[in-house]
Amino acid sequence: MIKYFIYARKSTEPEGRQILSIDGQLEDLKTLVVRENLAVVDTITEMRSAATPFNRPAYSDMIARIKKGEASGIIVWHIDRLARNHLEAGEFQYLLQIGVIKSVWTMSREYQSRDNSLLFSLEASVATQFSRDLAEKVRRGLYQKCILGQPPSLAKLGYLNTKHAIHGTNAIIEDPNRWHIVRKGFEMLLSRKYETPKIADILSNEYGLRTRPSVNKGPRPLHRSVLHRIFTDPFYYGYFQYKGKLYKGAYKPMITIEEFDQVQMILGRKGKPRQKKHQFAFTGLITCGVCGGAITASAKTKLIKATGEYKTYVFYHCTKRKGIKTCTDKHYTKVEDMEAMIEKELADYRLISDFKKWAIRIFQENDQDEMAKRNAIIIENAQYEQKIMQELDALIDMRVSNHITEEKYLQKKADKDAQLIRIQEKKSQLEDGNHTWLQQLSEHLDFAVHALERFKSRDINVQKDICINFGWNWTLKGKKLIIDKFEWFEAIRKYENALEHHFGRLEPQKVFDKYGENASLDILRPIVCRLRDDVSTTIRRNKENNKLNPP
Ligand SMILES: [Zn+2]
Repeated sequence: MIKYFIYARKSTEPEGRQILSIDGQLEDLKTLVVRENLAVVDTITEMRSAATPFNRPAYSDMIARIKKGEASGIIVWHIDRLARNHLEAGEFQYLLQIGVIKSVWTMSREYQSRDNSLLFSLEASVATQFSRDLAEKVRRGLYQKCILGQPPSLAKLGYLNTKHAIHGTNAIIEDPNRWHIVRKGFEMLLSRKYETPKIADILSNEYGLRTRPSVNKGPRPLHRSVLHRIFTDPFYYGYFQYKGKLYKGAYKPMITIEEFDQVQMILGRKGKPRQKKHQFAFTGLITCGVCGGAITASAKTKLIKATGEYKTYVFYHCTKRKGIKTCTDKHYTKVEDMEAMIEKELADYRLISDFKKWAIRIFQENDQDEMAKRNAIIIENAQYEQKIMQELDALIDMRVSNHITEEKYLQKKADKDAQLIRIQEKKSQLEDGNHTWLQQLSEHLDFAVHALERFKSRDINVQKDICINFGWNWTLKGKKLIIDKFEWFEAIRKYENALEHHFGRLEPQKVFDKYGENASLDILRPIVCRLRDDVSTTIRRNKENNKLNPP
């Protein structure tokens, strides 16, 4: 009868997938021992990583005891608990081959000493660790380069990477053919005599500047958009971006920071591309309340005689529906009036952030049951996954022992793999489920908390976005704007009314300040549940229409 060691291990470092705690592993293994009636000599546990060789005293001790003949089998939760580096995996394989280790039991099956699939599993376990280490090494290497001032990317136009010329190096140096021409481009812009398209034209056609050839594309004249990117890229004053952070480069800057700032001022603001001449926030959104035509905007620039300055006025008006001669609504509504009307609506539907926090807490409480159900499905799914894995193992054995043909094996394996992929997809969906749902709820409520202040930023894109997510049917009639709000905003309105009803004319913020976590807020619970249902309808509908949720 084979004697066994039980071996359970958990790394202190985060591992690739969810590994049971040591207690969890032991509990599982106990049922296995009883089921298979195995003779256990000792139980060995340790909290160590198996990624580096000989880092696990308890494991080494166990192997030494096996060599002495105390036992010839190991019971382990998963093969990857045994070895994740080549040295120890090699030793283990050797002990299997010479029969010192006769049997390895995992939760899914028994492996016997000459079992090829055990060797596969060991190798897979080492390979997974190896690729994880490699990715980490590469990541650290790139970060190291950033600290040293070497951008881990291709040199920008006007510079070259030395690794193409001098093997084994990678510094960024000036491109002898292009550096002075790109610098010339900056000078032309700084002179304020030329605009970007003209400069691109001169650099390409008079100075003969061409982009560097790449794998896909040959050298080409400089497009104005490429030049614009150059003009707004910190790389040229000696700083480069990597993963959202700015690092100081160890190469020669082409321009000074002061020059860069001036360039940004000439181009527009803060390095952002200058906005196209006339962009309007509310076009494409509103229809005329009289004829049903689209509402558009026009800009008029007037000279203010008193100051000698030009001022631009924007008006919204009807374009009249197709097929009719004129619309009787001939009003022009100033953009300032449009904004004021929308701001008033947003103010009416605003949520205070204390209410949001409180509502989220209630959602979480109500979600407990839901989560329990979900967890049950997750466990069931995991058991099914385990079963497929066992079937896959059995399949390998059948192939190794020549019980099935190569063709049959590949066909069956493809089936199993497809099943596994489906299970794993379901798994990640389930695991994300709870989190995503609360997250989406939270994002929606955030929208209602911050929409008004964000709208007041006067950023056209922000305003447009807020409008799209606030209501769906916008009409303008006789200079009055009518908006059909999405349902869940009506729930917010109800909450405001309820507050007023129960707490008198106290401002919402003051109600929270006064009653806070107090149970007297419980009368608002039905409204919170209503809000939850309405938001969930909105999320579902947006998903169906494939629209974006509020940012
Ligand atoms: Zn009209």
